[in-house]
Amino acid sequence: MLKRFAKYYKNHLPLFVLDFSCAFLMSLLDLAFPSIVRIFIDDLLPNKNITLIIWVGAGLLFLYILKYILYYIVTYWGHVLGIRLEYDMRKDLFHHINKLPFSYFDNTKTGHVMSRLVNDLNEISELAHHGPEDTFIASVTIVGSLAILFSINWQLSLVVTLYVLILIYFATVKNKKMREIFMEMRLRIADINAQAEDSISGIRTVKTYTNEAFEEEKFDLGNKSFKETKERSFKVMGSFYAGIDFISNLINLSVLVIGGALIYYNQLKVGEFVGFFLYVSMFMKPIRKIVDLMEIYQRGMAGFRRFMESLDLQPEITDSKEAITLNKVTGKITFDNVNFSYTKNKAVLKDINLTINPKEMIAIVGPSGSGKTTLSNLIPRLYEVDSGSIKIDDLDIRNITQHSLRENMGIIQQDVFLFSGSVRDNISYGKRDATNKEIINAAKAANAHEFIMALEDGYDTYIGERGTKLSGGQKQRLSIARLFLKNPSILILDEATSALDNETEKIIQESFNKLTKDRTTLIIAHRLGTIKHAQRILVLTEDGIVEEGTHDSLMKNQGVYYNLYQAQF
Ligand code: ADP
Ligand code: MG
Repeated sequence: MLKRFAKYYKNHLPLFVLDFSCAFLMSLLDLAFPSIVRIFIDDLLPNKNITLIIWVGAGLLFLYILKYILYYIVTYWGHVLGIRLEYDMRKDLFHHINKLPFSYFDNTKTGHVMSRLVNDLNEISELAHHGPEDTFIASVTIVGSLAILFSINWQLSLVVTLYVLILIYFATVKNKKMREIFMEMRLRIADINAQAEDSISGIRTVKTYTNEAFEEEKFDLGNKSFKETKERSFKVMGSFYAGIDFISNLINLSVLVIGGALIYYNQLKVGEFVGFFLYVSMFMKPIRKIVDLMEIYQRGMAGFRRFMESLDLQPEITDSKEAITLNKVTGKITFDNVNFSYTKNKAVLKDINLTINPKEMIAIVGPSGSGKTTLSNLIPRLYEVDSGSIKIDDLDIRNITQHSLRENMGIIQQDVFLFSGSVRDNISYGKRDATNKEIINAAKAANAHEFIMALEDGYDTYIGERGTKLSGGQKQRLSIARLFLKNPSILILDEATSALDNETEKIIQESFNKLTKDRTTLIIAHRLGTIKHAQRILVLTEDGIVEEGTHDSLMKNQGVYYNLYQAQF
């Protein structure tokens, strides 16, 4: 774990060295100042040499200015180092999350992912900055002052050492507790996030079901257990800090009593005793620092552990080493004995064989839940087939880079996802360097230009989160415009018009006719009326593709299609 943490310093070595050496110099200065003052009082003042006093004063001033500079560097650049590490980690994590497959997101709450990305790394920068330098400096000062202590009186020093061992043992025990509690706190925060994300993004449903109180209850559950965890963390910290303080007071007490006894038996001089006492209090300073560091360490590491957990999730779908980049494809799609299931023992697609020729349009119909969406999601390799293969232009999609594979495809679904931003932002999502003219042409082709112009700011109108300010048909038309810009060779329309009224459907159908021209198209339709004229209709049921033909031939057949049709009309 620490090794992987240390790896992040690699890209910031100069900064790390700067920070580390300045902090080291600073602590040397801190050690030097008392000695200078002592020399000043003991040796210089009795000599009554005013020039020397001024010189020493000037020297001190120089050292103070030096310390000012060092202090500034350590505080500023040290924290910069920390935040840069945090930045790198967050960037790595987001990059990694983007590589994870659909199945990960199917099974993970958005709020949990956000929590890992945002909250968990919050305390890393403090640790990254203070961790190494404070540990090093404190260790050096502890060893240094312990050596001085032993040189004054070894019996007393032995007592102090004994206490230090007790202190270390005590800290180790408490440290384990702190670690558990900070880990738990991270989990609780993630739960709150997930619950809030769920409730807020579903706020429209919450309100129409008037289930605000229910949502508040659910939220309160997480909020309460976070509160309780945090209360427990204060309990641990309370006994930790009070315990440490108690032990250091015991050190003082023992030095006092045992030292006093040694003086009584003429084993120790009063001057030595006072010196020893002063050095013991100086010795406690780095110990306190280490103690503080333990908390920072456990807080930071709790997040870092979770960060590593996420980074260790291997994307199940990756580009093979030999994966080739596909340029513009002609658009032939082949399914060869494809089997697929989301969970073990529950096959969704069984032995699918299918060839779609370049620029051909086929329709897939079938009862709800028969696997139509699943089948279409396999083509861009959003999920991986269990067995068999899918080929584009006779190339297995597992041998094509995911990027270039998906560049060639466009999917339109029933529920369109739009990003918060302007109309223009959302259309140009299909081609991010599109010119204004291209955007308008795409909108026109999607029958969207007119309604966009009627919006208050035209193409610059802010459409709300997920496009809440637009109607279903308007959203759908933006998603079509976006695809006109992307211009893919393969098109999948997954019940794209199912949620729309007849009037809107007609307008959208018109733009679909333009969009599907010269592209391999797979239409999944719920309303059979919309696909009546398809050259080829496939009927998918739980048993696989059971029928295939034109509308007329399938009707004549009086099978599944016939029954579906009868049920609708
Ligand atoms: P259709 O589009 O034909 O209505 P789907 O392809 O959406 O059907 O679903 C086929 C089956 O797979 C259903 O039983 C559904 O419950 C299941 N399913 C769909 N998506 C997932 C998923 N992401 N994880 C697990 N099971 C799923
Ligand atoms: Mg579906």
